[in-house]
This record gives sequence, structure tokens and C-alpha cells, in this order.
Amino acid sequence: MKIRSKLAWTYIILLVIGIITISAYSILTIRSFLLEEGEQQFERDVRSLALTTSSFKNDDQFDEKIRRQAELSRYEMAVYDKDGVRFLTFPDEAFGGVQAYLNNNLMEELERSDGTPIIQNSEESQKLIAYVDLEESDNTAQYLRVSQDKSEYYAAAASIRHIIYAGMFFSIGAVIIVSFLFARYIAAPILRLNSAALDIARGNLDRKIDLKRNDEFGTLADSLNHMASTLRADNKKLKMLNEKQSQFFADITHEVRNPLHTISGALEMLELEKLPPEKKKQYMNTAQKQIKRVARLFEDIKTLQRYDFDESFINRRKIDLKELVKEAEHAYQPIAQKKGLELVTRNITSCKVNADPDKLEQVLDNLISNAIKYTLEGRVTIGLEKKDEVVEVYVEDTGPGIGKEHLDRLFDRFYRTDKARSRDKGGTGLGLSVVKGILNAHQSDIKVESKVGKGSRFYFTLPISA
Ligand code: ADP
Repeated sequence: MKIRSKLAWTYIILLVIGIITISAYSILTIRSFLLEEGEQQFERDVRSLALTTSSFKNDDQFDEKIRRQAELSRYEMAVYDKDGVRFLTFPDEAFGGVQAYLNNNLMEELERSDGTPIIQNSEESQKLIAYVDLEESDNTAQYLRVSQDKSEYYAAAASIRHIIYAGMFFSIGAVIIVSFLFARYIAAPILRLNSAALDIARGNLDRKIDLKRNDEFGTLADSLNHMASTLRADNKKLKMLNEKQSQFFADITHEVRNPLHTISGALEMLELEKLPPEKKKQYMNTAQKQIKRVARLFEDIKTLQRYDFDESFINRRKIDLKELVKEAEHAYQPIAQKKGLELVTRNITSCKVNADPDKLEQVLDNLISNAIKYTLEGRVTIGLEKKDEVVEVYVEDTGPGIGKEHLDRLFDRFYRTDKARSRDKGGTGLGLSVVKGILNAHQSDIKVESKVGKGSRFYFTLPISA
């Protein structure tokens, strides 16, 4: 059953039960009130008839007066003498089955009643009957019997009942129509929301629900719109991530294929029997260099993967940057000297930061090794600059510099300004993305300032720890 029908039938059943209960209660209350009122009126009328009857003179007009009285009051009347024998009836046909005299018990009862009418209203009887003792009467009449068909007596209650029945049926009809219309009004937004939710579930994320209602349905529509827009954004992100991942794997394949080619070529050459020893050494060197490059590539990929999927991959502790920089300077001094470069440090004083020492060492390694790798002559400077509560760490060189057009994508994975030159120098194209990943995990970021032909300055900041 549809929600609309369920709602409609629920309203109808509840309202019909309500209407029937109220109507039944009203009918019973009004009926008993009217019957009680009717009986009291009957008694009053009987008293009045008794009074009038007893005042009539015993002349030849007597019968006519009684007849007129019965006619005017619309009651059936029978008059009895002091022995309880009936001598007048109006209308005659109403008394066909009624005894022509009063029984002794009733007469005794009437004598004791002091003129108060005795009313008989038994269930079996079709009539409401009253007997009254006329006491001191001016004529031969001593007892009066007044009766009325119960149908007349019930007439007011019956007509009220009919009015209530009519009202009840009219209300039920109205309730059925209004309930269906109301259920339709209530169910309409549910149906619209349902079809929109189904649409969204099927992937139509551009679907917008425009309910323009200030109630809970309006709020629900807003929530669904919000959900769809979040899903849209997530979908976009997922698509981008997917594209990035595919690009990443394509780049890895490409990066691995080159050194493998070189290694396989070197191995083929080494298989030649007549190869002079110095050539042999050269091919061995080439193979070893490429193997190292592949190893470094996988090491970098591993770091980046952990950065992507494990937010807590850094283990922070309090370290002194002075020691870290000194160690790096020590490690890279021979390499720089071999290349004829000057490696200097500037303003290296004790400075405590809360960071992962191994990861920070890797950051310095990548920046210093790049600076030495790409600088042909001049100087590489490693320095610290304290600014209020942070310290800036920089690696500066007098190398070729980087063109403005590369700066936006410099930290992207596998991005190189000059692919051939980078590979030539054993670069993986991942060094700077690893630096960025590590610094981001430290809530910091890597920045670069560079002038083509003058050199580059890579720098980042860390909060000083007391
Ligand atoms: P690679 O392994 O190729 O060095 P990186 O991610 O470390 O990869 O660097 C990306 C690119 O940025 C390099 O290929 C190089 O073109 C450029 N680059 C990095 N550092 C410097 C530098 N100090 N001077 C000039 N170019 C640089």
C-alpha cells in the first residue's frame, strides 16, 4: 500500500471513529434528555387536563367539552365515574383493546395519590399512559386516563437522531475527501524526495530538489541537496585521485624501464669475452649506478605512500637543528668539494624544534643533494634564521635557477624542469615531493625563490620549541 493511501486511511479511520463516538454519545444524551423532558411535560399536561375536566359542569355540553379538550391537547382521553366505569372516550378507536373499567388496585392507588398522576411507561406498551384522580369534581367524572402514542413522544428524539445521522454521514464524507487531499499534500514531498534520492543513488548527482517548504520536508530536501553536493565534490576528488594514481603508476613504469634497459645493455656487454678490463669496470659501474637509482626510486615511493595513507608516520621529538645541519654539512662537504663547490653554513646556533629527526634529515638531504647536483659552480649555503617564534631553514645555491613556469608544478611527483638532465644526474623526480610530504606532515610547507641564471633558495619554517 502506498504511503499516501496509508495516511489517508489512517486519518479516515481515526476521524470516523471520532465522529461515530461523538454522534452516538450526543444521540444518547439528547434522547434521554428529551424523553425525560417529554415525560415531565406529559405529567404537567395531565394535571392541567385533570383540573379542567373536574371544573366542567355536568350538563349536555360535557361530552363535547371533553372531546374538544382531547382534540386540542392531541392526547387520547378516557373518563371514568367514581366506580371506575368508563363512560367517555376520545377518540373511540384508541380504546378498542382497553378494559372499560379500572381495576381495584389502580383505584386504590389513585385514591392514595392525592391527585398526582400515575404514569405507566412500560417497555412492552406502545403508549405512554397516565391515570389521575380528579378528587372533588363538579361532574360525574372521577378518574381520567390520558394516553399518547410513544411514537409521538419519541418524535423529537427521533428527529434529533436523524439530524445527527445526517451530520455524521456528511462529516464522514467530508473527512474522506479532506483526508485524501491532505494525504496527497503530505505525501507529495515524500514522493518527490524519494524519487530524488533514487536518482542520486543511481549516480545523477546533479539532481536538485526544489521543495520551497519551511517544514521538516524542506530541511530534508536541503540535507539531500547538501549530500548530493558533497558526493559530487567527493566524486570529483576521487576522479582526480584516480587520474593522479594512474599517472603515478605510468610514471613509475617509465622511470623503472630506463634504468632496466641500461642495466640489460651493460650486462650484454659484460658477456663479451674480449672486453678490456677498463671497459668491464665502466659497464659494472653503469649497472651499479642504475641499480642504486631504482633502489632510491622505490625508497622515495615508499615514503610518499606512507605520507598518503598513514597520517602518523612521523615520530616527533625535541631535536636541535644545529646538530642536524652540522651532520648534513659534514656528510655533503666531500661531495661538494669533489665537484669544486663551496658548501657553507650560516647562523647555525642551537635551535630546538619538535620534529621527526630522520624525516627532517631526509628533507635536508634532498635539498642539499639537489643544490649540489644542479649547481655547476659557486656556493651552496645552509642556514637558519630565527623569526619570533619560528625558525626558517634554507638551502641556497648559485646554480642555474628555475624558470617561473615550473614553480607551480615543481613539487609534483616526477616533475622535472629538464628530464634528461635530471635522469643523467641520477634523479628520480620524487625528491621535492618527498620533501613537501614530510613538511606537510609537520604542518609546514616547502617554498622556493629562484632566478634563472642566479640560483635558487628552498626554505621552510618550524615552530621553535622552548
Ligand atoms: P630530481 O630527482 O629530478 O632531482 P626533485 O623532485 O628533487 O627530482 O626535483 C625536481 C626538479 O626540480 C628537478 O628535476 C630539477 O629540474 C628541479 N630542481 C630541484 N632542485 C633544484 C635546484 N637546486 N636548482 C635547480 N633546479 C632544481
